[in-house]
Amino acid sequence: MFSKILIANRGEIALRIIRACRELGVQTAVVYSTADQDAAYLKFADQAICIGDAPPADSYLNIPRIISAAEIADVQAIHPGYGFLAENDHFAEICRSCNIEFIGPSVEAMAAVGDKVQCKKLARKAKVPTVPGSDGAVDDEKEALKIAREIGYPVIIKAAAGGGGRGMRVAHNDVSLRASLKQAQAEAENAFKDATVYIEKYVEFGRHVEVQVLADNHGNAVHLWERDCSMQRRHQKLVEESPSPVLKQEVREELCASAVRLVKTAGYTNAGTVEFLVDKQQNFYILEVNARVQVEHPVTEMVTGIDIIKAQIRIAAGEPLPFKQKDITQTGHAIECRINAEDPARNFAPSPGTITELRVPGGPGVRLDSHAYAGYRIPPNYDSMIGKLIVHRPTRAEAIATMKRALQEFHIAPIKTTIPLHLQIMDNQYFQSGDVDTGFVERVMLAK
Ligand code: ADP
Repeated sequence: MFSKILIANRGEIALRIIRACRELGVQTAVVYSTADQDAAYLKFADQAICIGDAPPADSYLNIPRIISAAEIADVQAIHPGYGFLAENDHFAEICRSCNIEFIGPSVEAMAAVGDKVQCKKLARKAKVPTVPGSDGAVDDEKEALKIAREIGYPVIIKAAAGGGGRGMRVAHNDVSLRASLKQAQAEAENAFKDATVYIEKYVEFGRHVEVQVLADNHGNAVHLWERDCSMQRRHQKLVEESPSPVLKQEVREELCASAVRLVKTAGYTNAGTVEFLVDKQQNFYILEVNARVQVEHPVTEMVTGIDIIKAQIRIAAGEPLPFKQKDITQTGHAIECRINAEDPARNFAPSPGTITELRVPGGPGVRLDSHAYAGYRIPPNYDSMIGKLIVHRPTRAEAIATMKRALQEFHIAPIKTTIPLHLQIMDNQYFQSGDVDTGFVERVMLAK
């Protein structure tokens, strides 16, 4: 096992990794930017190293500074968390050349699944269903129109390097396709410095169901069952749960087996998530692979009892998986609500500022992963998520009831948060019956 790890991230995930390391008896060094200098979790790490100013390019995305911090702290490994450098194969390669273990997949596997066009090719090889669409990148309008007419409208244009729901546009006819293609390319260039886009059939009224996988360096790969993340706004997840409330058992098993097949075909190791869209008839199609730990990993931890962060560290240290597929079961039901510092009443405008009042929920079945505290100033420079509220109960109905009362206990002031929207979701009869899709929140709950 490693004796010391550098955490190249911030916020709740930095704290989550510190917690795992302390339980494992591994020392930690955590990097921070000047905007995070007052973050309370810095005190829980054995060492905290300031690597620069607030803009991510000057700190959390600055590879030379992070590598210098790793050398100063004399660590054997780096955990990248999610976001920032977590899926940057160039960073993973630099770690390797500096003899620092990158806690994640190999450079090659990350590159293979990181590009969505390449990933679809791998999926076909692994006999995992893909959404009908262009075989590869689409460059010009003529080709785009031809493909769209072949597969039929509506279609979705997506950035090959995409992430976080950016660079995506839905088109319902030739006219909107022409306009959307240019917009998607410009947005992709802007966000990812790569204008490559591709087209696929837009699966209407689909659910987002994803499979957590773990693979070690000894050829073993398992899945930790699925998470249903259909409650979204602008293609970004709001609520996640495990198990999915609607999947038929045979579909669940086939979906999870497909994810493992893909991982094995890609020679992928460490933790990863294979994301799928599931249509009304419960046909499923792969969307992409996320080569990192995900925000919503706690729901899987709650139902399987497996600590995914510890598993990542152990795998990176060369240990074999300590369990077999048949040992991994889903017990009870877990739900997670992402608590963002955003104002649902003002079109989710960011609500940075200082939290002066904070009363956190507790009691049976409640877990809170958050770096926030009373007196915490939310920096305007980063993602607006200030925590994740997770519940785990024997049944889904009980989990919803527990989440509702936990959200009611949760008091954060004076900043605005997504708590009122989550309360509305927990009370929604369609959510309660599981009758939702990825467009539900916007179409039904947020429609003016
Ligand atoms: P990102 O990497 O930006 O998160 P994904 O490919 O994971 O993009 O897709 C994010 C979300 O966008 C999905 O959960 C779904 O809501 C929507 N989406 C993506 N592709 C399709 C599609 N072909 N049909 C319908 N919805 C889609």
